[in-house]
This record gives sequence, C-alpha cells and structure tokens, in this order.
Amino acid sequence: MCGCERTPILVQSNRRDHDDNQIHKQSVRHRVHWRMCPNNRALRQPEFGTDALEHHCSEGFYAGACGYVGVEKDNGIVLMLPEYDLVVIGSGPAGQKAAIAAAKVRKNVAVIDRTPMIGGVSVHTGTIPSKTIREAIFQLTGRAVKAQYGNGHVAHGDISVRDVSVRVREIIERETDVVRAQLRRNGISIYQGLALFLDPHTLTVQDGEDGHQLKAKNILIACGTRPAHSPEIPFDDHRIVDTDHLHGLSGLPRETIVVGAGVVGLEYASFMAALGSRVTLVDQRPIILDFVDQEIVQALSYHLRQLGITFRLGEKVTRVSMDMQREFAFAELESGKKIQGDALVYAVGRQGNADHLHLEAAGLVADARGRVKVNELFQTAVPHIYAAGDVIGFPALASTSMEQGRLAACHMFGIPFEHMPELFPYGIYTIPEISMVGQTEETLTSTKVPYEVGIARYSELAKSMMLGDHMGMLKLLFHRDTHKLLGVHALGQRATEIIHIGQAVLFYNGLVDYFRDMVFNYPTLAEAYKVAALNGLNKL
Ligand SMILES: Cc1cc2nc3c(=O)[nH]c(=O)nc-3n(C[C@H](O)[C@H](O)[C@H](O)COP(=O)(O)OP(=O)(O)OC[C@H]3O[C@@H](n4cnc5c(N)ncnc54)[C@H](O)[C@@H]3O)c2cc1C
Repeated sequence: MCGCERTPILVQSNRRDHDDNQIHKQSVRHRVHWRMCPNNRALRQPEFGTDALEHHCSEGFYAGACGYVGVEKDNGIVLMLPEYDLVVIGSGPAGQKAAIAAAKVRKNVAVIDRTPMIGGVSVHTGTIPSKTIREAIFQLTGRAVKAQYGNGHVAHGDISVRDVSVRVREIIERETDVVRAQLRRNGISIYQGLALFLDPHTLTVQDGEDGHQLKAKNILIACGTRPAHSPEIPFDDHRIVDTDHLHGLSGLPRETIVVGAGVVGLEYASFMAALGSRVTLVDQRPIILDFVDQEIVQALSYHLRQLGITFRLGEKVTRVSMDMQREFAFAELESGKKIQGDALVYAVGRQGNADHLHLEAAGLVADARGRVKVNELFQTAVPHIYAAGDVIGFPALASTSMEQGRLAACHMFGIPFEHMPELFPYGIYTIPEISMVGQTEETLTSTKVPYEVGIARYSELAKSMMLGDHMGMLKLLFHRDTHKLLGVHALGQRATEIIHIGQAVLFYNGLVDYFRDMVFNYPTLAEAYKVAALNGLNKL
C-alpha cells in the first residue's frame, strides 16, 4: 500500500482534454500517484463517480474501477487511460497464475473476466463443481461407509440433488473469494466485463452499457472454452442440457442419456449412476479414453457397468428430440436405435472462446474451434500477445493451464524458467477414479520398447481394505533391460494422489528397483508401489 490519504478529497483538474477541450472536475476518494502512463494521454470520462478510484493497485498507485486512473498533475487530477505491463483476459487457472507471477516481479497487472466468473470455468462450471459433486456423493450417500460396513450403514439415506447443489454453491463461493483475495493481495486490478481487442495493445472491457479501455504492453489470452453445441440439439437448459447447465435439471433423472464419453461425459455419467440414475452413455468412437492404458480402461468400464451405466459405443446420435407431454428426451442413433431418458446431457467437447475476442483487431485469428495457436513459449503470432490454458487446446486441464500461464508470464518479464514439462499426470475423477503418468502398454508396443509390467491389486493391501476398496490397482511399466520406470497407472481410491510418487521417479529417470529397495509407511496405499515393483521384477 502506498499510504495515500484514505479520506475523500475533491480534486479539480485544469488540464484540457486532448479530444474536446473538456475540463474534468471529479470527486475522488484517494489521492493518486501516477506511475504508469508514460505517454501522458488524458481522456475524458464524464461519469467518473466517487467509487471510481476505490480500487487499490500496487505501490503508490490507485486505478479506478471504471478503468480510468486519476493522475496528479499541474494542480489537479487528469484522467488517463491506464496502461498495464500485463493485461490478462480470463481469471481461470492460466490467467490467475500468470497475473500473480507478473505481480510478484512488481509489474502492473490487470485481469479481466465476465461478471460472475472470477476463478474461471475451473471454479464455476468445471473442475471445482464437478469434484465437489463427487466428494458430496461419497460423503452424503455414505458410499465410503457402505463399502466398509455393508449396505446397512448409510450416512444419509435420502440424498437430494438440492443437498449436493448447496454444497457445490458453498465451495464455489469460497473458491471465488480465495481467487479474488489472491489477486487483490498481489495488487492486481480486476475488471469485470467482456474483453475485446481494439488494437494489438488496447482492449475494451464491456459490462452492460459501460465500457472502459485499457492499454497493455503485454496481453495474455486465457479466455478458456465453453461447451461445444450442435444446432441439431434442442437445448432447453432443463431436460436437454450441456455440462454447464446440469444445475438446470430439476432433480435426479431416473434415466439419463449422456452423449459423449470423453473425460467430462464419463465423470458425470458415473456421478449420476452412483446417485441412482440409470445412465446410457453414447459415443461415436468405438473405444473410450484412447490415451489411457487399455487394461485400466477395461477395468474402469467393468466398474462403470456395475454402477448401472449402459455403453453405446461406435453409435452416432442423428437426432435428439423431446416428448413434451411425457417429458422424455429421445436420442436416435444412426444404427436405428432410439434411446429415451428423463434428461439428456450433451458432453461432446468444448469450443474455445477466442472467437469472441475480436482478434482480428490485434492481427490474430482463431481456428475453427475458437482456439489460438502459440509457440512453445506461449507467444501468438504477435509476440507481445501470449495465450495459455484451454484456449490453446491440448491437454486442457486446470493443472497444466496454471503452469502454462506462469511460464508465459516468466517469458514476458525475463523471469528464469524451465520449459513446460512433457511429463504430466492425468486424473480422471470417475467413480472409481483413475490416474496415469508416462507411457501406456499401447505406446510402448507401437514404439517397440521391451517392457515388463508389475501390478499391485488393492485387495492385497491392508490400507485399501480399511478404506473398503477391493477393486483398485496400481500398474508399473518398466524397461526389461534397464529397469527404467516408463509409466504408472492407477485405478481406485486416491489414484490421483498416489500417482505423484511415480511421477517423481519418472521425472528423475529412476528405476523400478527404487520401489523394491525403499521402506514405505505401513499401512498406506503408497505401499502398492513396492508390491507392484516386486511383482514386475519377479517376472524377469
Ligand atoms: C466439467 C469439467 C470438469 C473438469 N475437471 C477437471 C479436473 O478434475 N482437473 C483438471 O485439471 N481440469 C479439469 N477440467 C478442465 C479445467 O476446468 C480447465 O482446464 C481450466 O479451467 C482451464 O483454465 P483456463 O485458465 O484456460 O480458463 P477457464 O477456467 O476456462 O477460464 C476462462 C475465463 O475466461 C473468461 N472469459 C472468456 N472470454 C472472455 C472475454 N471475452 N472477456 C473476459 N473474460 C472472458 C471466462 O469467463 C472464464 O472465466 C474440467 C473441465 C470441465 C468442463
């Protein structure tokens, strides 16, 4: 904080505006010290109200919530178009981490996001709500308890969708506050509204009737994605919904059709099935999760079927319709089948938001899927405009987006950094969850690497028995000759946590022998590494 006077003062500017010679006369809350706008451009802002300068920025500088800054000059205050070292479009994981990395090296940073969306898709419609729903299902249905003590022990017999929604709302609000506080604590200005490019260094932020302009030396496009739609699907946000509008379903459907068996479709299908809905999952691809080790996929498919999911793979949906009287949704398939459900969830991929940024004004174009192309340093074709997160495409995870954002800021401001690691884990939070890092049996076979497999079944581990997980497994892939660890795959409770042990050994080119020779806490799920290593090494 700069220690400026905090009491309201009336300041009159005698500076003439360069556009129309208007004299500014404004009431502002804080005395303002100018640090940013080197070109001294003054602009007129007729509706500059008392709350306009309440927003705190870094040392000795206050920016207006309206976007303009008041600057002490020639016995008065002039209003300037603020110029930032970095303006970030989108406050999701990529935007947040970029903004904070830049603020840490004392750069003036602003983040723009649409009004209710601080925290991004990750906080509002993606990672956080979906994972909260999953945890709520475990806690409120007593699933974990049932697994250990049988069906007689149910924590809350009658879980309602409302119970889950209340929990989700609480967590979203909390996470939004955390993100907002982190940005504020780092002196980052937050602008609410829709960002559009006016030129390669200028953005306008539109919020209803209001619009402000910001200048930026560097810009990060971190505007993420939205659910992809098809004109053939008659969405009504009530019975036929995309994954951003699941809350529109008025209750848990008895029968649900989920179209799209990607990660998001699978996760939601398993949640609904766990809550008791009969789910039919349709995908035109003949196999699910083709990037995951197929033995794990087969095990997952088995457990999802046990949960009550019917798979219709290799089946294309040709038409979706509603029977309004009976309130049924129908999906007609190319094979002639017709599936009905109380609700249909459309989970077929996501569309980048860059197609709504007016990129051409900056000399850029979005591809057909609304994404922006970048180099390995996250620079677009215009070097001071960077892009990170889901808007650049694969792998489109919150975890990777955070790191991409941080690295983009590092490159922008000359902060030393390593390149984005090629090795990163996947966590798929179906019920049961799976996780992987490194190679699969399929990729090793196709590249002719001689490998061996070591497997630990959770049923052999004391800890998993205590947790009531009898069906989980950990699978290690390692080179037959060198014993170098090549891939780690886990299914079952805490798979997404224990994978990180394998990730560390993989990163440091470790050997599977490490797991054999180390002492592990007992009882733990981590002990699975030792069991799997012994299993694999004994096969050689
Ligand atoms: C259902 C679901 C579950 C998921 N689960 C996981 C998971 O378990 N683990 C994981 O790692 N990842 C998960 N993901 C993916 C994760 O949510 C995304 O990878 C992550 O949110 C991407 O971050 P981002 O910073 O690119 O942008 P986003 O989080 O998409 O945020 C982009 C922000 O930009 C804003 N914006 C867009 N256009 C404009 C504009 N013109 N002006 C101003 N603001 C704009 C948006 O309002 C939004 O707030 C999940 C995604 C979904 C949909």
